[in-house]
Amino acid sequence: MERQKAKVLIIGGGPGGRVSYMFLKEFGFDGVRIVGNEEPTITCSLPYGVGRRLIPRGPEAAVVAKSDWVPKSMVEDWIDGNVTAIDTAKREAVVATGGNQIVIEYEKLILAVGGVPWVPQTPGALRADGPSMGTGILYGNEWVDKGRLADNVYVLRGAPDARRLDNLAKNGKSAVIVGSGAIGLELLEALYDRGMKVTLLEVLDHLAVALDADVAEVIEKRALEKGVTVYKGKGAIVKKINPDSVEIENGTTIPCDGVIFSTGVRPDLRLAQAAGIKTERGIVVDAGMKTSAEGVYAIGDVAQIADGATGQPLLPLLGTLAMRHAVSVVSDIAGRPLPLAPSTAWGVSSIFGLSWGSVGWTAETAQRSGIPVASVLLPINTRNEFFAGRKSGLWKLVFASAPFKDIKVGQILGFQAVQDEEPTLNLLERFIDIITRRETVMELFGHYVIHNPAHNEANDPILQIFFQAMQIIQKG
Ligand SMILES: Cc1cc2nc3c(=O)[nH]c(=O)nc-3n(C[C@H](O)[C@H](O)[C@H](O)COP(=O)(O)OP(=O)(O)OC[C@H]3O[C@@H](n4cnc5c(N)ncnc54)[C@H](O)[C@@H]3O)c2cc1C
Repeated sequence: MERQKAKVLIIGGGPGGRVSYMFLKEFGFDGVRIVGNEEPTITCSLPYGVGRRLIPRGPEAAVVAKSDWVPKSMVEDWIDGNVTAIDTAKREAVVATGGNQIVIEYEKLILAVGGVPWVPQTPGALRADGPSMGTGILYGNEWVDKGRLADNVYVLRGAPDARRLDNLAKNGKSAVIVGSGAIGLELLEALYDRGMKVTLLEVLDHLAVALDADVAEVIEKRALEKGVTVYKGKGAIVKKINPDSVEIENGTTIPCDGVIFSTGVRPDLRLAQAAGIKTERGIVVDAGMKTSAEGVYAIGDVAQIADGATGQPLLPLLGTLAMRHAVSVVSDIAGRPLPLAPSTAWGVSSIFGLSWGSVGWTAETAQRSGIPVASVLLPINTRNEFFAGRKSGLWKLVFASAPFKDIKVGQILGFQAVQDEEPTLNLLERFIDIITRRETVMELFGHYVIHNPAHNEANDPILQIFFQAMQIIQKG
């Protein structure tokens, strides 16, 4: 068995792994190896590649290896393969590559193995065997190679998935999307734009799990106006997949050319658990992304961090955070520790002209975790009525209605927004700061508003929402 040495070994070529590599090079490190089992891809862009409206060249434009986005040295330092085992005591990893095995002795190890699509066990979803793709899905609790997905069953995580979906959009007429999170909704719009008839299935009683029902209503209404068929609740659970249709629990059979599962992502914990590294829902790390094993860091979708607002364990599953984790880890390896400030989860996207997003906790997720919350739901306008380009929207503020553990009364826990033709991103970014700094409505009310007529209404909805929240708090 061939043996090699690496100062730093990175496992995984997603955004976490690639940005780690790039920063190690910025810091002048040699002896870096990166093991990847997929073409490096800008995953977040894939739905837009399938849809074509924002990426006319299609999903291929998001495959990084074919562009010059990565340092040239990454091509030499990259090993195409799968790490099959790590020994944290000996500081060794075994890589299966092209029928060979290499043992790499490392000084520091970065686990950036990411997450895999979760697919509920459903008759007809898998075939008995299939070509090995090397990457997989979590099928219920079982890891299954993606090559076993039935011909008409799809997920979206990497470039090969996007190519399959692109073919579906080219050759098919109708599709069923299971799951209405951000990825499901982005795919809904993409396939709609490609002229497909789309049916959306959601097990919850409303679309968009990142939003509360009252905010999500706006998205559902718009989807229905566009001719999308929507089934919600337990009746929308897929009972069986046939080659040309899907049967759901409410007794309906929906004819379709393909079924796409966008039913969530789970951290890939197989390597860490086999190596005895501490895991819970993800790999447990400290603020510097250090795992329970000496010299081993975990970053990105595989890492479980603490939620800024509450301190509770959190799996953010966000590429932007994977990249920040990478910077923190490389700084630590370079002897300049950069522990991360607390962060929180968010989901931001757009569909059919609506820009929508959510930061932190919804009222529904907070209530499920036993956190006492109240909320203010406010229809808003972006500018005064005599302004051209005035747009409407709906905002929702979620805040603690009583002290709970170390959460203060009035502490802002979440914010949601849906706006017509007006981006929500900057607004939601403000709330990331507010939520992770654990600020209360009362603290913010005194200093928090800027007004300019070209940008917002004189009576800024932020003030209205804080004012209503303070009244709720004062009434107890
Ligand atoms: C369709 C879609 C849209 C998204 N949109 C957004 C968005 O708008 N904004 C945002 O912030 N995030 C978005 N995300 C989430 C974002 O893509 C992920 O959070 C991010 O990719 C996580 O990066 P990572 O490096 O941790 O893991 P991954 O990107 O999952 O990369 C891990 C890589 O490691 C490989 N690997 C695993 N095990 C091994 C092994 N043993 N040996 C070798 N290689 C291995 C995996 O196959 C994979 O290629 C989106 C995700 C999807 C699927």
